[in-house]
Amino acid sequence: MSKLSFSHISKLKSSHLLAIFITLVGVSVFLYNHHWDFVNYSMMDWIWIYAMLGACLLLEYYTFQLPPEGNKQSMDSSVYLASLFVYGTSFTLSILLLSSIISAVYERRVSWWKHLVNFSIYSMMITGSAFIFETLGGHEGPIENANILAYVITLTVYFAINVGLVGFYYYLLYKGSLIEILNGFLKDTLLVYLSTLILSLVLSILIMYNGIFGLALFIGLSTMLSYSFKQLFTMYNEIQEKAIKDQRTGLFNHSYFENLLDAEMKKSKTSGTALSLAMIDIDDFKKYNDQFGHLKGDLLLGFLGDFLKNECEPAEVTASRFGGEEFTILMPGFDENKAQHFMNRLRKKLNDSYFEGVEIFPAGCLSFSAGIASYRDDIHDKAQMVDLADQALYYAKKQGKNTVHIYGSGSSKEYEIDFAEDVRDIEQQLKLFLYKDVDTFKHSKRVFRYAVEMSEVLQLESTERRTFVLGALIHDIGKLEIPWGILNKKDKLTPDEWETVKRHVSWGKRIAETNEKFKELVPYIELHHERYDGGGYPHGFKGTQIPKLCRMLTVIDSFDAMTTERPYQNTKTYEEGIAELRRCSGTQFDPELVEIFIRYMEQRIREQQQPAAGFES
Ligand code: GH3
Ligand code: MG
Ligand code: MG
Repeated sequence: MSKLSFSHISKLKSSHLLAIFITLVGVSVFLYNHHWDFVNYSMMDWIWIYAMLGACLLLEYYTFQLPPEGNKQSMDSSVYLASLFVYGTSFTLSILLLSSIISAVYERRVSWWKHLVNFSIYSMMITGSAFIFETLGGHEGPIENANILAYVITLTVYFAINVGLVGFYYYLLYKGSLIEILNGFLKDTLLVYLSTLILSLVLSILIMYNGIFGLALFIGLSTMLSYSFKQLFTMYNEIQEKAIKDQRTGLFNHSYFENLLDAEMKKSKTSGTALSLAMIDIDDFKKYNDQFGHLKGDLLLGFLGDFLKNECEPAEVTASRFGGEEFTILMPGFDENKAQHFMNRLRKKLNDSYFEGVEIFPAGCLSFSAGIASYRDDIHDKAQMVDLADQALYYAKKQGKNTVHIYGSGSSKEYEIDFAEDVRDIEQQLKLFLYKDVDTFKHSKRVFRYAVEMSEVLQLESTERRTFVLGALIHDIGKLEIPWGILNKKDKLTPDEWETVKRHVSWGKRIAETNEKFKELVPYIELHHERYDGGGYPHGFKGTQIPKLCRMLTVIDSFDAMTTERPYQNTKTYEEGIAELRRCSGTQFDPELVEIFIRYMEQRIREQQQPAAGFES
């Protein structure tokens, strides 16, 4: 048996022992102090017992509920104290006994021993404080102004017994510091204690001078106050709800989701339990909006919100609206397979759910695509987790929609295929160079290949790799705008012509910006002629002002330019190119990155020079 569960059992045992001890003491002091004089009670006594009993039960029911956690505070203690002050110990214990029996019968769901412990704690509180009250010269009957100290100390003892016993019980159960636990209890309840004292004195006076009518006034006031507190609490809850809920779908909103994800990731990190996140995007929602208008689209979002809520709540997973028509499902305790199973069940159920107009969807029904990411130790923050789920969603869409995809589960080929599609797209655009400047076309493809190789060397993660490689391929797209004559001029360019050539970075930027797909590649196009020392164009950015991979692109772009034939300069060998890179390291190029590239190229050259092993013998 592990140490942990063993200590857990010993904790349970000591708290059980305390409960038994409390019960023994509580019942004993009850038996000792209760005079069993029911038979001697007059009619009037019984009326009072019933009235006070009714008050206790009412106040137990009409609790004061306080935000933020909704801790319930019952004011029944003020009745016990008032009864103690006016009628004495035995009478008060009679009320306690009857009230406990009625509670035990009424709340049968709570186990009998809890009722017994509760009764015992009250019994100790009442008899302990009664003892102090008598010791300090207090008398049953009307409130005596001169004895105010006795009332205050009696109340203090009443609550000290309560806080001490309950606090010690929690301490045994959950460990931690006893002082801290007691402090916590005191902070939460001090105000309630004070008001209970005042209320018990007020009730005593009302009972003494106005009898049952006084008691009725007291109960009326308390229940109305409790009602107002309840309303306040409801209002607080409503406001709280508005702050964390999305109005359109009734699901949790984005910021709630982010906080929850953060908290759940921390939990998984420490406890090692599984955690999965699914990112959902409705398939072809634009089509629905276009056909029926945004208002109808909103209704569909509301329908989907209800659907997700109804399916997720019983499974104890949390659905939130991430934004637009994208949702997240956070699944604590779910590994990726369980998450996929759950999401697929959800997807099929949605396919079978009817909403007006779903016939217009390509699949003829409502559907979504989902990407799943499961927590691993190397996922450091929530943004990364969302990003992985988002990438998986992207692939789910590529696979033809209405599917659920687990991040990283497809073969790497699948990722390459998706990549290749973007490469084909860009190549299509670059083909325009074929008739205008075939060299730039070839150069772009070579730089692209260097970028693929360098992204291996730099071990880039998939998104970075994708933008770097595509950025390398597209970086010179702006050259399409350079006039034919300048582009193919064999002689040295004039200063004016140079200025024109330099503008290709801004033209390229503009071309890329017109296509949503290429927007993220803009830095590669715009910044590949910046220099590490700040002497480049178009901005003159320096060092780390230039993104790292743009600095890398500058290195491979320049190396390719040096080592291949170009209209306006002589070709260098690889070795000469490397020497030139070294010469310009720290001025034109980032010294660290240039060194990485050189090491890679030298290795490649060595490998090319070695005869292939298989042909030696
Ligand atoms: P895909 O299958 O690739 O996801 O295609 P799609 O048509 O769903 O395209 P996409 O996800 O790119 O577009 C989302 C559309 O969702 C764009 C916008 O018209 C619509 N949308 C986003 N938020 C709301 C909203 O609050 N109400 C309505 N009615 N439409 C919204
Ligand atoms: Mg979308
Ligand atoms: Mg969509």
